[in-house]
Amino acid sequence: MKFSLFISIFTIVSVQFGRAQSPIIPTPVTHVFVEGKIDLAEQITIKTVNLSEKLKDYLVGELENSYAISTKVDSLDGLVEFKRIANTQKDFYSINVADKITITYSSDASCFYAIHSFLQLLQFEEDHYVIQKAFIQDFPNFQWRGLHLDVSRHFFGIDEVKRYIDLMALCKFNVLHWHLTDDQGWRIEIKKYPKLTEIGGFRDSTLIGHYNDFPHKFEKKKIGGFYTQDEIKEIVQYAQDRFITVVPEIEMPGHARAALAAYPEYSCTGKKLPVASEWGVFDDIFCSKPETIDFLKNVLEEVLTLFPSEYIHIGGDEAPKTNWKACAKCQKIISENHLKDEHQLQSYFIQQIDNYLTSKGRKMIGWDEILEGGLSTNAAVMSWRGEAGGIEAAKLNHYVVMTPTEFCYFDYYQSSHPAEPVAIGGFLPLEKVYQFNPVPQSLSNEEKSYILGGQANLWTEYVPDIESAEYMVYPRALAMSQVLWCNEKPTFEVFEKTLIDYQIGFLKKHGVIFSPALFYPEMEIFPSTKGLKIHFKGTAGNDKFNVLQKTDGNETNEDKILGISDTLIFERSIVSKNVHFEISPDETYELEHTPFDLKIHSAIGLPVKLLTEPNSKYSNHGELALVDGIKGHRPWKGNEWLGFDVDTISWIVDLKKSALIESFDLGFLDAQGSWIYLPKSIQLYVSTDQKKWTLLPKQLPVENFHQEIKKTGRYIKVVLISNNKIAKGFPGEGYHPWTFVDEMEIKFK
Ligand SMILES: [Zn+2]
Repeated sequence: MKFSLFISIFTIVSVQFGRAQSPIIPTPVTHVFVEGKIDLAEQITIKTVNLSEKLKDYLVGELENSYAISTKVDSLDGLVEFKRIANTQKDFYSINVADKITITYSSDASCFYAIHSFLQLLQFEEDHYVIQKAFIQDFPNFQWRGLHLDVSRHFFGIDEVKRYIDLMALCKFNVLHWHLTDDQGWRIEIKKYPKLTEIGGFRDSTLIGHYNDFPHKFEKKKIGGFYTQDEIKEIVQYAQDRFITVVPEIEMPGHARAALAAYPEYSCTGKKLPVASEWGVFDDIFCSKPETIDFLKNVLEEVLTLFPSEYIHIGGDEAPKTNWKACAKCQKIISENHLKDEHQLQSYFIQQIDNYLTSKGRKMIGWDEILEGGLSTNAAVMSWRGEAGGIEAAKLNHYVVMTPTEFCYFDYYQSSHPAEPVAIGGFLPLEKVYQFNPVPQSLSNEEKSYILGGQANLWTEYVPDIESAEYMVYPRALAMSQVLWCNEKPTFEVFEKTLIDYQIGFLKKHGVIFSPALFYPEMEIFPSTKGLKIHFKGTAGNDKFNVLQKTDGNETNEDKILGISDTLIFERSIVSKNVHFEISPDETYELEHTPFDLKIHSAIGLPVKLLTEPNSKYSNHGELALVDGIKGHRPWKGNEWLGFDVDTISWIVDLKKSALIESFDLGFLDAQGSWIYLPKSIQLYVSTDQKKWTLLPKQLPVENFHQEIKKTGRYIKVVLISNNKIAKGFPGEGYHPWTFVDEMEIKFK
């Protein structure tokens, strides 16, 4: 097998014969198609000399349950033969489909990956399965291919967690980051502290609707649950059998409300508070006193007996220092240890936990806040607030798992379609996930070697059950598996086609509930000389639409069939009007209708020059977003608004002629739970030549801002001043607030 070793290392290339793409996701390093097919009978023989019983059972089970193919295991001969080989490339495997099928593998894990690739090669034709002849070589790019599951905000039973693991295995993920404790529930039995689950495992009520909807409403019902230690062992073993390591997360010092509801003596105040029933960040965190550290070490001692993972996640994120500042014990530790402030106290806190884990032969990993106040010696960092934390850690020679919100937070919306269930906010469509690269380009080659891989996170504030969890994770997990497995991933277009041609069927075969966002038509908008140009666009094979257009509620019943190249033009109009489209896509996809609303007004399509760039997370449609006729939705779905995270924001709009400007309207978003606030002030300037600007009276911004102008000019400059920090007592306290704006309407003649 030396020959194949050479190919695997020196040629990362896909050669196709007869067919354009590998049906396998994640895409293998090499997939060479050869002419011809093998027809599979209802029963096949498998030669498995050294294959472990578990792998054999797994293969036989999958073939029988998902493909209705029975198997006969033979030690001498078989249509499918498994061979263990030596290969220096970690987790290398190959599949050779000739007259027989030979699968070679270098580790049990790679055999498991080979089985999954083999199963994806099976294609149903007429009344039986066939396999296209081919040669495949493959191995993963990153060693940490993670998927996260928050079981605190909503509890998932052991069968549901097993289901989550089963689906992870299909995509060759190898780390389950299990978020077991948080403010809203403690989910792991700790024998020394039974109240953690008796009290901390349940809450009396839960926020309903979105956190940004005020006043908050609650469902008064006791909910929760926890895993016994036996159940935890069962899950860990179940995952191990699928070559997935479970990394437990025990949150500290923040997100501790459930633990402190059970044992208030480990907080700074000692005050008894209930398990949290709403989302967010709370001041009540673990006190840094020695008794609390001992308590946490005792908890971890039991955790270590249950989880054999190299890494133990200790959280470390979002820990407000309010209570530490007011606590005599915390302040005493600061002065006795000559610490600068509460950030260094957090570092001191984490260092003790790190030392403990190190003494037990484990490694600590935590969210990037553990960098604040100095990183403890052995800590690995999970970079979530962008990639900056990961870059800093790698430069300090600490290992890093990249999971920036922008690409990795699967609790964000995947489309703005009205059928999407309520989500936390943010916008992460499939294509954005696909663009993710866990390795920051600014690192040197040596520093890059500290990037272990990446991970997608599923926080479950708005994910009440396993069906919703699958919906949020799939098909985005397939894009993430491409990012983390492929050495050189194909273009998004090829990936999308593979999804449509093969993988959607594969997901259906496994009963996966997935978001159809991929198939929803989109409205594309461009500026034109006199207004806007729009057309509708869908995925390959879904570019025929039935479009019903209504204007201002008056049904014109213009039933039109629009193709991908059909374009509609809308001109600016002094009298604004609403246009509504109702789009039913090709029936193949059984989708809900897609409505689009367009407001035609006198500023649509006007040239806007952004003097401040929006944050790349919220810059959809760029400057056109302000004048594209689409008003940002409330509740916020992420992609219509322009989002800024700086103090001063400004832009200039050109009316393209000198005119009497009557009024100016601008939409702001006030969604404090998402750290989005109204700016402090808005200043408007008018000019005829962009040299001399006249400042109009300042006004206070409100969500639907309106200002009378009655001045002649050609250009309007808008300047927004925001606070540089979120005030004390508000969500996101101490962080920079977001400013979200959308649709600017200007009346002029
Ligand atoms: Zn304290």
